Amino acid sequence: MATFTLTLHPASEGDALILTWGKAPALRHALVDLGRGGDYKPLKPLLQGLGEVELFALSHIDADHIEGAVSLFKAPDLPFKAREVWFNARAQLLAANARLAPEQRVPLGSKQAEKVSEGLAASGWPLNSRFASRVVSVDSPEGAAPLTFAGGLQLTLLSPTDQSLANLLPVWLKELIRAGLRLEDLVAPPPPPADGHVHLGGLDVEALAAMDFKPDQTKPNGSSIAFIAQYNGARVLMAADAYSDIVEASLRRLGASETQRYRLACLKVAHHGSQGNTSPGLLGIIDCTCFAFSTDGSRHGHPDPQLIARILKADPQRPKTLVFNFRQPQTLCWNVPALMQKWNYRCVFPTVGQEGRVALDLLA
Ligand SMILES: [Zn+2]
Repeated sequence: MATFTLTLHPASEGDALILTWGKAPALRHALVDLGRGGDYKPLKPLLQGLGEVELFALSHIDADHIEGAVSLFKAPDLPFKAREVWFNARAQLLAANARLAPEQRVPLGSKQAEKVSEGLAASGWPLNSRFASRVVSVDSPEGAAPLTFAGGLQLTLLSPTDQSLANLLPVWLKELIRAGLRLEDLVAPPPPPADGHVHLGGLDVEALAAMDFKPDQTKPNGSSIAFIAQYNGARVLMAADAYSDIVEASLRRLGASETQRYRLACLKVAHHGSQGNTSPGLLGIIDCTCFAFSTDGSRHGHPDPQLIARILKADPQRPKTLVFNFRQPQTLCWNVPALMQKWNYRCVFPTVGQEGRVALDLLA
């Protein structure tokens, strides 16, 4: 029997995601991000158990996605083998920048290596090897068509673009320091301040959904690797922390529109459910009733209530499922029978004792 699952693992306010596909016992896996430094140790036995992954994708350089990889590469013997790694470091940003038209190129930031590239080089795992330019970008020629993996998984790249990669260059050093990823950073810096999240009293879905969409403009998020994974006719959109407009433009290139909505078994909601990464426009061209959120709510108070209201309001007729990998104030506030009945949704939380971990059957 075919298997296709997405498992959210405990990753603090970030992502540590595993896609599994195939027919038992020949199951295959892709690992997307590794959460914060402290999230790696509890995940290690599981990674050891996988033995090998077809793809290890590090979506972008924010600490809540990549710090766990720094922990991974600290020990000389790696607990698993990656057949292929996707990661855009400074060399890839430079290559993307060089491909832009001269008037679109951005000035270069400081040269600085970071810990993950060092670790990857030592691992011997092939980096971005199926892209001739070694840049994981929708503007690389290989990004134009679905990419096939062993066992029959197909990935369609949605983000980043060459421009969104190049735009990270001027702030590369600043972002490395912020994420504690410089080779010189021996201790983790203090966490960034919360992003001005306002705790709203009560949940008025109509009012929340009517609030303006303010697009995320942080440069590392714009450089996120986002893709659709497809197996056995089911698709999941792994949105990382990508920009909504880049993902939407890619979906439209694939033929998605308001009248031909793009069918998804699940949307791994971008940026932990921040209001600025899933626009009404994007919601208007997907056909999806299952939304997965990876965050414990720390630091930024994700998911934003405006976004969940936007999702509910976008499709009031069909039953929807909200999947949360942590019980926390910003998720428990939606687990209210009156709200669930009125807006036709249910909430999925981890099994008690398994906080942070939820497995979703994408073929169900
Ligand atoms: Zn993130």
